[in-house]
Amino acid sequence: MPDTLIQRIPFEGCVASYEEADIVLFGAGYDGTSSYRPGSRFAPMAIRSEALYSQENYSPYFKKDLSEKSIHDAGDIDLPIGDKSTALELIHKTTHDLVSQKKKLCVIGGEHLITLPVIQAVLEFHPDLKIVQVDAHLDLMDELFGDRISHGTVMRRISELKNEAKWIYQAGIRSGSKEEYEFAKTHTHLFQFHLKEFTEAIKDLMSYPIYLSLDLDVFDPSLIPGTGTPEAGGIMFPEFIDLLKTLDGANIVGCDMVELSPKIDPTGNSTINAAKILRELLMIL
Ligand code: MN
Ligand code: MN
Repeated sequence: MPDTLIQRIPFEGCVASYEEADIVLFGAGYDGTSSYRPGSRFAPMAIRSEALYSQENYSPYFKKDLSEKSIHDAGDIDLPIGDKSTALELIHKTTHDLVSQKKKLCVIGGEHLITLPVIQAVLEFHPDLKIVQVDAHLDLMDELFGDRISHGTVMRRISELKNEAKWIYQAGIRSGSKEEYEFAKTHTHLFQFHLKEFTEAIKDLMSYPIYLSLDLDVFDPSLIPGTGTPEAGGIMFPEFIDLLKTLDGANIVGCDMVELSPKIDPTGNSTINAAKILRELLMIL
C-alpha cells in the first residue's frame, strides 16, 4: 500500500484487504484554493463516520452489498493544506502507486482541484481515457484570482493534458463565465442542466476507459447544501441513479466525489446523503 496513506476507520462495507482488493478508496481532503466557503478537507472523515451510524451497506438500486464488492478503504493522505504543490504531488504519487498495481480508484475530496493530479497519474496508464465530469460548474477558467491551478480552473488544466479535442464530457452544468462557455464549445462535450441527454450519449464512451468526476454541487442545494459553491436548479438523487445504471458495465477505471463541506450544513444531511451517493458510486466500479 502507498506509504502516503494513513489508515482510518474504513467506510462501512469496504472489507477487502489491500492485497486482494480490486478497488481502493482513499481520501484527499485538500481545500486550499476554495474561493468561497472552504471546509471540504473535513469530508472524508465525516462521510465515513456518518455511514457507520446511518446507512446500510446494501444498495437496493443495484441489489448488491458493498461487502460483495472487492473494496479496500486505505484511509487518507495527510495533506499540507498550506502547501499546494506538495499536496498535489502527494495525491499524484498515491494515485500513481495504486494504478500501477492495477487498482481501480475512488477518491473522496477535498475540493475539485484534487482531480488534476489524479488524472495526471491515471493518464500515464490509460492514455485513451475519457473524462465524465458531473458538476454544476464548467471549471474551465484560465485563472481564478490570478491562480491558474485552482478548483475553478481544474478542467481547463486537465483539458491541456492531452493533445486531443473533446475527451471531456461535462454534464449537469448550469454555471460558468461567457469565456468558459466559448471554450467548452470547441474543447468539451457539454450537456447542460440535466443528465438525460448525456445519459443517452454515453453509448459512444463504452469502448474507452472512463474516469468519473462527481462534484456534489451538481445536486440541488436542497439535497446537498453543504458545499462550497451551491447552485440552484440541480439534479436529484433518482436522476443520478439513472446515470449510474447507464454507466454500469462501462470500463470505469476511477472516480472521485468532491466538494462536500460538512460543517456548512448544520443538519448533517449533506454528509448523510453524500455517504449514500458514495455507496452507489462504488457499485459501478
Ligand atoms: Mn467542480
Ligand atoms: Mn461545482
